[in-house]
Amino acid sequence: MSKFWSPLVNDLVPYVPGEQPKMANLVKLNTNENPFGPSPKVIEAIQAELNDGLRLYPDPEGESLRETIAAYHKITPEQIFLGNGSDEVLAHIFFGLFQHGEPILFPDITYSFYPVYCGLYNIESKKVPLTESFEINPEDFKQPNGGVIFPNPNAPTGRYLELQHVEEILVANPDRVVVVDEAYIDFGGESAITLVDKYPNLLVSQTLSKARSLAGLRVGFAVGHPDLIEALNRVKNSFNSYPLDRLALAGAKAAYEDEAWFRKCCDDVISERERVTSALEGLGFEVLPSKANFIFARHKEQPGEVLAKGLREQGIIVRHFNKPRISEFLRITIGTVEQNDALIAGLESL
Ligand code: PMP
Repeated sequence: MSKFWSPLVNDLVPYVPGEQPKMANLVKLNTNENPFGPSPKVIEAIQAELNDGLRLYPDPEGESLRETIAAYHKITPEQIFLGNGSDEVLAHIFFGLFQHGEPILFPDITYSFYPVYCGLYNIESKKVPLTESFEINPEDFKQPNGGVIFPNPNAPTGRYLELQHVEEILVANPDRVVVVDEAYIDFGGESAITLVDKYPNLLVSQTLSKARSLAGLRVGFAVGHPDLIEALNRVKNSFNSYPLDRLALAGAKAAYEDEAWFRKCCDDVISERERVTSALEGLGFEVLPSKANFIFARHKEQPGEVLAKGLREQGIIVRHFNKPRISEFLRITIGTVEQNDALIAGLESL
């Protein structure tokens, strides 16, 4: 704290991102990145843009990228809002689409950026407990609120909510925006984007950081009714008119154009997820059913913190949360076959 700080900053409780260690030889399974890297076509597109684009401002509306994403999802470009990673898209959603006076609802175990945005924008929130088996219960989202947000699949549990239950939440809250954060949807879930024409209160957020392996490029987007998108554009243009630079716009477009690469990455992650799950079960872990590119697992005897430390000493980083109900668990990103083998061998030795 300093006398130069605004009182608003004194009260902020910021998000703490997962560790990005400098050492190159670590097996890094802690921040749910894609181990396979982006399509070579993304690199080519960025290279081409580098050759003659940097002098000029980017397209503030990202029209060409929105057209590409719209064609892919069979929607219109007017239904898409682009941001500098889905974290920024979410920030604008909290500012622009959630009501004050009634609490925003989100699961009690979920993405820890949500309470941070509530603090930033002075929005009241209420955490909705998950069931015994760490699932979202749609019934519990049928109560007065200023808006609803949950990841599907949820993070860090990996548990997926079937679309019929997402619809129950939408139907129960016709006058509130319901945000489905689909950062991990491509690893076996079904996207709620197919529902946006049916529900004007639905906003779906997605990212290119996971399945498209572009966490470093920072591209995310939201899909919903054009009225919702207009609100987000007002917020964006009151904050930063050019959230996506030219390299990001070009790279993201190329990523959508190489569907074969995307499918192969997702299929490989899914088959490795099933293999790692069986191996860990064989080692005495309970692994929650996951439709994400990570698993959430607890050992019957050994505490999560001890296991995380033991792996770290072997150069393998996984995520451990010192939080109620989940402190026994490890969240483990699915890596390459070699990385996953190292993880399994590392756990066997503990
Ligand atoms: N939502 C969830 C549930 C996440 O886990 C993440 C990644 N940390 C994000 C959104 C943000 O992803 P990005 O900003 O890289 O698009």
